[in-house]
Amino acid sequence: MKGHPLIKLMSLVPLLPIFHKLNRENFDNSLVKGSQSIVSVRWSDGRLRNTAGFYQRGPRVNSPYGSEIVLSRPVLKNLPQSAVESTLCHEMIHAWIDLVLGVKEAHGPNFRARMAVINSSQDRFQVSIRHNFPLPKKTPKWVAICPICERNSFYNRLVRGAACKSCCDKLHDGKWHASCLLTYHTVSKEY
Ligand SMILES: [Zn+2]
Ligand SMILES: [Zn+2]
Repeated sequence: MKGHPLIKLMSLVPLLPIFHKLNRENFDNSLVKGSQSIVSVRWSDGRLRNTAGFYQRGPRVNSPYGSEIVLSRPVLKNLPQSAVESTLCHEMIHAWIDLVLGVKEAHGPNFRARMAVINSSQDRFQVSIRHNFPLPKKTPKWVAICPICERNSFYNRLVRGAACKSCCDKLHDGKWHASCLLTYHTVSKEY
């Protein structure tokens, strides 16, 4: 007998209730103005495999607040709720430093101080600088970006002089062309 198809759907916990709870408990409600959170929170699609989550702000962020927290669906979907809470809380510290303190900082003194307070105030979860969740796939070392089509591809080793094949095909009759040279960046394992 076949199982009911709905049973196979992976259900992700809704993030907003957890966000509001963490905001009340650890950020004096400062990440909410009125009843609106000042940073959007969402699950990623299936491609965010190198990191458990991230915070970002800028004109390219597609959210009414210009800032968002994205948690990785592939990394977190099979982990316990404490992993979701600790990742969300980690990113909320970044949002709090950026939007409330107005300070430019990654994992500096403000981050570490707030993390220590949160970790000592409860034992449901622990926030850390780097996570040690199992990644669903081997983390590639390099991301190569085509300057023309902006496509990202991941590599475990850096190939100097490599050009974007699809752009060389499309624009230069399949011949290598310097304008399609890929630029390499290291893939950050922190989150
Ligand atoms: Zn290209
Ligand atoms: Zn971080």
